Amino acid sequence: MQYISTRGAAPVLNFEATMLTGLARDGGLYLPEHVPPMTQAEIAALAGLSYEEQAYVIMRPFIGDTFDDDEFRGLIARAYAGFGHPARAPLKQLASNHFLLELFHGPTLAFKDFAMQLIGQLFQAALARSGERVTIVGATSGDTGSAAIEAFRGLENVDVFILYPHGRVSEVQRRQMTTPEDANVHALAVDGDFDTCQALVKDMFNDFSFRDEVRLAGVNSINWARVLAQVVYFFSSAVSLGAPYRPVSFTVPTGNFGDIFAGYIARAMGLPVEKLVVATNQNDILHRALSSGGYVTDGVKPSISPSMDIQVSSNFERVLFDAYGRDGSAVAQVMDELKASGGFQISQGALEYLREAFTSGRCSEDETSATIARLAAQTAETLCPHSAVGVHVAESHLSATPMITLATAHPAKFPDAVEAATGTRPALPERMADLFDRPERVTRLPNDLAAVESHIRGAIRA
Ligand SMILES: *Cc1c(COP(=O)(O)O)cnc(C)c1O
Repeated sequence: MQYISTRGAAPVLNFEATMLTGLARDGGLYLPEHVPPMTQAEIAALAGLSYEEQAYVIMRPFIGDTFDDDEFRGLIARAYAGFGHPARAPLKQLASNHFLLELFHGPTLAFKDFAMQLIGQLFQAALARSGERVTIVGATSGDTGSAAIEAFRGLENVDVFILYPHGRVSEVQRRQMTTPEDANVHALAVDGDFDTCQALVKDMFNDFSFRDEVRLAGVNSINWARVLAQVVYFFSSAVSLGAPYRPVSFTVPTGNFGDIFAGYIARAMGLPVEKLVVATNQNDILHRALSSGGYVTDGVKPSISPSMDIQVSSNFERVLFDAYGRDGSAVAQVMDELKASGGFQISQGALEYLREAFTSGRCSEDETSATIARLAAQTAETLCPHSAVGVHVAESHLSATPMITLATAHPAKFPDAVEAATGTRPALPERMADLFDRPERVTRLPNDLAAVESHIRGAIRA
């Protein structure tokens, strides 16, 4: 299995190099050259397997010879062993044809653990074999950073630096990043918003001398291995509702388009998915783009679902690559236009391609709170604000096809918003009840590439 860049001008890589590299050297994102199909019989045979067994079958064709069969099985087993639910991704029923896929039973209580816990295992195995070290740098609006730190803390061959927007993450998210005591963990509070942090990370990757000097590796949602890990729960949930013989639809609370892009890959592999519904909060660039064809940035408005407060949705580039007929130079051109002028018009052909698979909706702040309150009253299900955005948007897309809405975080990760909506403060699970008593460790940095790079150079372990 070979991987190619969405901008068509970076080296073709195998799985291991794709995973360790993150962002391609031409500024693009890596994608498999071909998506390996699964037959109807192969999908049907997933029914009744454990989550780990399903994960092995679904991901194996993408891995090539990076890991052998037994090693890969072992890495998957270790990745999910720390989850607080034996089903890993349990499915609950909300209404007659509406289901909630709970993706928040991992160690940091958000869906990002599914990808990050696996990536931690994959990196450790690959680096231990080669004896190399890497410096992982990531930007986060909250959940990616805590998931990455939890996945990489204490690993011998890795230093991990997470940039988060100072004052713009929830206290639980911040403490999950600042309280681990491991020497290889570095939380950096940057003056700015999530896009500031993401731009700094991109600029570090484009500074090739720095990139090579510290052997930079990325684990943001642009990392292909993360998308791959997320493909699994689209299959596991659909199969439990009767796929491949019965199609399903998904609604995905979306920011960087990583999670929903995994659903698109599942569909491309042959999973019968009728519609993929993009659910946005008031930062609705993706909803506007799919509605009007204009992908136009508009500044970030902080919301009660902060993990979706973005204006540039990095993984959207991957689906644009397909929508533009896999023409890397066409993608490079629209991305240059986006950088230069803050927006671009999606071509008519590309827009038709996108609308065949995707539809979209937006949820206001008031609608988010009202949905949390209503679901708590009607179903005793306490939603986090991101999941509430998903449920609200899904409710206007219900049909005879079962709808699965992804619940992306545990309500206790966003207790202020949940308490404001329901009057009850959601409790943290027992295993992290002492989070508020642990000492914090963090470095505050300005929005300045040179300052961030020099801090990282000084802090990495020899
Ligand atoms: C990251 C995140 C999202 C958005 O996921 P993307 O893959 O960036 O679209 C939604 N909800 C929560 C809780 C998250 O942490």
